[in-house]
Amino acid sequence: MQNLLVLGSTGSIGRNTLDIVSRTKEFNVVGLSCKSNIDELSRQIEKFKPKYVCVEDSNLAAVVRERFKDITVFEKEEGLIELVSLESVDFVVNAIVGSAGLSPTYYTLKNSKKLALANKESLVVAGRLLKKIANDNGIEIVPIDSEHSAIYQCLEGKKKEEIEKLILTASGGPFLDKDFTSATVEDALSHPNWDMGKKITIDSATMMNKGFEIIEARWLFDIKSIEVVIHPESIIHSAVEFVDGSIIAQIADHDMRIPIAYALFKPKRVSLPFKISLSDVGKLTFRKPEFGRFPTLEFAFEALRKEEKNLGLILNVADEIAVESFLKEKIKFVDIFRILEISLEKFEDNLPSEIDGIKEMLRDIKVKVLELLKDRFWRS
Ligand code: NAD
Ligand code: MG
Repeated sequence: MQNLLVLGSTGSIGRNTLDIVSRTKEFNVVGLSCKSNIDELSRQIEKFKPKYVCVEDSNLAAVVRERFKDITVFEKEEGLIELVSLESVDFVVNAIVGSAGLSPTYYTLKNSKKLALANKESLVVAGRLLKKIANDNGIEIVPIDSEHSAIYQCLEGKKKEEIEKLILTASGGPFLDKDFTSATVEDALSHPNWDMGKKITIDSATMMNKGFEIIEARWLFDIKSIEVVIHPESIIHSAVEFVDGSIIAQIADHDMRIPIAYALFKPKRVSLPFKISLSDVGKLTFRKPEFGRFPTLEFAFEALRKEEKNLGLILNVADEIAVESFLKEKIKFVDIFRILEISLEKFEDNLPSEIDGIKEMLRDIKVKVLELLKDRFWRS
């Protein structure tokens, strides 16, 4: 049995990962982590009996230590690094949200552990460095994100020179055919197809999520020829066009447990009960994205064109802060686009090539974006 570590185990992807672990009984859960939801973490500890956990918040880590005297409780980012470095860990699922996932991704690869990656932000912020470490250590980064899992499956056994382009599908989010000028938090959180964490749900409404996925795909597959197609039914999870004009797509119900299971077991397929009937689905539709309404897509393509720059990192930091401010109703929905645009204009720089330089830049840009929001966007 392989020893599995689930980082961000209390979140949407984390809980779905543990559901797959329970159904298949082929992994031993050796470690779990969360930011602050220690009640859910405690239930998971009782069920999966890990030897190690990490809680970001030190005070809450102390509470967990009191509750469970026979396990080791690490804390903060350093605790995550200790977790992924443990000898007994074979396989890491990184389901942390945001740039907090970068260090654990980096040290998982550095320690040559298997990695199933949901935390797309790692690749958005530091794709080149992570791919280099993965290649140096002979580790493959296996995607959990449904689009990238689909592309990964379509590419199996294919040669790079046979690929014409990657086709990323997008549901279009809640504002596909709806005006968002005065959108509320509730409007933006009502995603038509997927039940996800709040951050990625807002990113789906602005389409920044698809922008991040463009950058994620570029690094995962080392291909820059990428098209985004709106597919509101979210049944085709993505596709690959080959040089002969053939397009191969992956079709499944929209349940993240399917790509999670594939990332854990590939190339083996495990039996799961989430089936769809194509005749019940009936109709699948496709259309071009509206780049004018959703400039986030263009921001991502700009980041691909200027790869030596830190545009992915800026987009990620500015978006994290803007989305958090929107959720707290300190800014309007449309302000998110403007904050991203201004941040790209003002904070462009060369991206450092080492982890410590990138982490320092993350902290530095965060301070600058917060100043920008305080000065120009926060409503009192
Ligand atoms: P979520 O908000 O539901 O869960 C996030 C998890 O990360 C929680 O366990 C939380 O405790 C932990 N966390 C948050 N901040 C942290 C910090 N600073 N330090 C340590 N841990 C922290 O998020 P989610 O929807 O499960 O998304 C997780 C990741 O998976 C994101 O990168 C997201 O883009 C990606 N993803 C999610 C989905 C989905 O269906 N939810 C689909 C594709 C990709
Ligand atoms: Mg996705």
